[in-house]
Amino acid sequence: MGAMNVSLGMPKAPDPVLAPRRRTRQIKVGSVGVGSESPISVQSMTTTNTTDVNATLQQIAELTAAGCDIVRVACPSADDAEALPAIARHSQIPVIADIHFQPKYVYAAIEAGCAAVRVNPGNIRKFDDQVKEIAQAAKDHGTSIRIGVNAGSLDKRLLEKYGKATPEALVESAVWEASLFEEHDFHDFKISVKHNDPVTMVRAYELLAEAGDWPLHLGVTEAGPAFQGTIKSATAFGALLSKGIGDTIRVSLSAPPVEEVKVGQQILQGLGLRPRKLEIVSCPSCGRAQVDVYKLADEVTAGLEGLTVPLRVAVMGCVVNGPGEAREADLGVASGNGKGQIFVKGEVIKTVPESQIVETLIEEASRIAEEMGEPVDGETAGAQVSVG
Ligand code: SF4
Repeated sequence: MGAMNVSLGMPKAPDPVLAPRRRTRQIKVGSVGVGSESPISVQSMTTTNTTDVNATLQQIAELTAAGCDIVRVACPSADDAEALPAIARHSQIPVIADIHFQPKYVYAAIEAGCAAVRVNPGNIRKFDDQVKEIAQAAKDHGTSIRIGVNAGSLDKRLLEKYGKATPEALVESAVWEASLFEEHDFHDFKISVKHNDPVTMVRAYELLAEAGDWPLHLGVTEAGPAFQGTIKSATAFGALLSKGIGDTIRVSLSAPPVEEVKVGQQILQGLGLRPRKLEIVSCPSCGRAQVDVYKLADEVTAGLEGLTVPLRVAVMGCVVNGPGEAREADLGVASGNGKGQIFVKGEVIKTVPESQIVETLIEEASRIAEEMGEPVDGETAGAQVSVG
């Protein structure tokens, strides 16, 4: 692809942002600040039975390692509520209890020491009558709340008024519930208005952003399997985050929750809203390619997974345009004639046979990462990899 002009290399100045963050009030979800004064946080939700404390904590540990900032756990029964204190105590990241239907579990979660409670006003019985008591309990324990309005469980009154879960209906529900909490002098809450259609969801959040200074939790609900859900979430979040709207995000995928966290991180990194970590810049391949670019890019990506330093690695399929592009990255390869020219910071450091490209890149990446401060304990990215 002769005209490929990717801008490579780590920027010297901070990345530009598309728009300043929308100003919000600031709240805390345990140790994590949520609002325009804090970085945008990535959330996910456990898929284990909450009653299985060990399995839930194990999954939370995996989510934490993947970069999850805040985790939500479902609390559908008394047994789940009983598991919450141990989960809240031992989790490395703040735990939000997700409550539907039964208001008594809201109190149980607050008592259990959860950092926050997500309430769904549309399906908690007589929710509006409980707001005063919930606000008081949350205030007493320093617990924050998420008012989580969802298209699938919208208040019946609003469904009748609007005919379906329109952006206006979602926002009216959220604003009404927010006003109830505020009447009781409770302000430590964020809001979500999720819908499975990105266009409806984006419009709802835009309207909500104009209606108050609440921190907003973004989500496209039931976004689907990994491929579709990733695209739906990325497009919807991109539309909102590029206008400064959104303070926490959750990518909902019909896939293991660690995947949600990886996608969430990538979305924020792609928009320059979180420092970039590993970035693979690989060419799409074309008729000039003299190597299997897809395989090479996959192997390099797998080999470098886990690196936490900002490293830009270029994988280019030919020597015609490859060298110029690879030269601009921290590390790169331009392939051709059964060989790979390896570049580090713009200099060709060696030429290796094609069969050694991946292992050489991994070695060099690990060395650069170490120089950049990557913790090395025998478990460097290179050491974890078996190269095929
Ligand atoms: S093989 Fe890759 S680097 Fe070479 S011209 Fe084609 S797309 Fe560009």
